Amino acid sequence: MKALYIKKGRLSFRKDYPEPKLKADEALVKVNLAGICSTDLELVKGYANFEGIPGHEFVGEVVKVKNSKDKKLIGRRVVSNINLGCGECEYCNVGIKEHCLNGKALGIIKKDGIFAEYVSLPVANIYTLTESVTDRQAVFVEPLAAALRISEVVKIPLKGKVAVLGPGRLGILISQVLSLTGVRLTLLGRIKESLNLPKKLGLGVGLIQDFKDKTFDLIVDATGSEGGLTNALRLIKPLGTIVVKSTYQGEVKLNFSKLVVDEITIIGSRCGPFLPAIELLAAGKIRTEELIEAEYPLKEGIKAFEHAARPGVKKILLKFL
Ligand SMILES: [Zn+2]
Ligand SMILES: [Zn+2]
Repeated sequence: MKALYIKKGRLSFRKDYPEPKLKADEALVKVNLAGICSTDLELVKGYANFEGIPGHEFVGEVVKVKNSKDKKLIGRRVVSNINLGCGECEYCNVGIKEHCLNGKALGIIKKDGIFAEYVSLPVANIYTLTESVTDRQAVFVEPLAAALRISEVVKIPLKGKVAVLGPGRLGILISQVLSLTGVRLTLLGRIKESLNLPKKLGLGVGLIQDFKDKTFDLIVDATGSEGGLTNALRLIKPLGTIVVKSTYQGEVKLNFSKLVVDEITIIGSRCGPFLPAIELLAAGKIRTEELIEAEYPLKEGIKAFEHAARPGVKKILLKFL
């Protein structure tokens, strides 16, 4: 099958990649449409030392299942949770496969992803879609779920001031999700032009440099770069909370004393719940169409990656039909 492939930080297009073999409780999914996210771009830079097929944001159709009890899935349009649990460790035992100690993550850790014609997935990870969610919406289910995770790890201070750093693809989704709570929210960027789209979507926006130190009670860092955390530390109020959404290759240098003196809490947050994400999209509560920049066929995947890496670019999709 055709697939994009990463080895030693080099992305290539392959025509001869073997189709995945189904294990028990798995389904074979034909990918229809996929999104390139910042994590994919980081994988090419060496993040997670990944070798294999990248990609985890997608919508596809089930074409084959291993167990006859799963036959009803055939022909259904689906999305998939990206975390594959071992089913045996202390986290899997309590249903938190996101933190499986032997975990695999689709297109990120020890498991081929979805920038390929076919992918094998555990049936337990699959969510079926109704007609009310289009393919172009469905590619946003995974990042939207990640945005929804924030209010699971931290209490949103409804009377306080909240900022999201990074007016990129994820930052805009997060801002839309948090705005649904009714909280006063400002999406912050460094460059004026980067705020045009969020402003058009009705979000409160501002330039990072225009805000005084210690302004916000809660800050979400969705910048995807280490500078985000430095800015967040400057802007956070004493006793405030910073939620970190960025994953990147490399380490970050921090003023740790500030953290101690102002008693700041820093919380990491990664993957989130799929069902509420699907429901929000079906209800038309999250705008996604404006977040799409361009669509490329799979065979132009390398060009698509280059496009996605340009600063200020919105979501780049890969189309498989
Ligand atoms: Zn992603
Ligand atoms: Zn496990």
